[in-house]
Amino acid sequence: MNTNKIITIDGWSACGKSTVAKQLAKELGYVYIDSGAMYRAITLYFLRNHIDWTDIKEVTEALKNIDIQFHCNCKSQQSEIFLNNENIEYLIRDLVIAEKVSDVAAIREVRSFAVTQQHKMGEKKGIVMDGRDIGTTVFPDAEIKIFMTADSAVRVERRFKELFEKNPNITIEEVKNNLEMRDYIDSHREVSPLRKADDAVVLDNTHLTMEEQLAFALQLVK
Ligand code: C5P
Repeated sequence: MNTNKIITIDGWSACGKSTVAKQLAKELGYVYIDSGAMYRAITLYFLRNHIDWTDIKEVTEALKNIDIQFHCNCKSQQSEIFLNNENIEYLIRDLVIAEKVSDVAAIREVRSFAVTQQHKMGEKKGIVMDGRDIGTTVFPDAEIKIFMTADSAVRVERRFKELFEKNPNITIEEVKNNLEMRDYIDSHREVSPLRKADDAVVLDNTHLTMEEQLAFALQLVK
């Protein structure tokens, strides 16, 4: 299989982008990059260090102290995210981060910091990157672009199940409100709002199994 393509997967929150992206990357021998994890990592840093993100000077200074890397976990064979050498893969999935991440991701300076790194990661191609603006802004010339969607009730249910495993106190309303809020902010922000690239192919996975989604994506690649 040649490894000279960039595959972008954008779409609404919790519609299963990362699951498809991981499987697709594995199948093709590509590198999977979770761009949302980068915005979550920056949010974690801001929260921990009490950064006032309405103050652009403070944001710019803080970004200088942030180093984000992805490393493969040999055991699980999954890529995990490190913030200043600390593995934060599991910390950033928390609702506390999800509640703030879209505000942080709407800041121009934050986006340009993340996008610069995403460009470097794509230099050699052979990547599957998922996010909100990958096919529109980060890699507008990507060879394959997928825009994923699913019914909102299905998305809420899926994300609730995931988060409930780690936090049995979480309610379905909290999850629903968070997804609605993020989708609204992500699609209405000034810088790189979430939208389908004109040349992206829509994958609605409301009624599809993982195998069907993977087959759909592989068909596009081939
Ligand atoms: O993909 P995930 O849900 O982990 O992304 C978390 C948040 O990061 C999104 O709700 C969005 O605010 C932001 N994001 C973004 N651009 C990307 C990826 C994620 O703005 N390319």
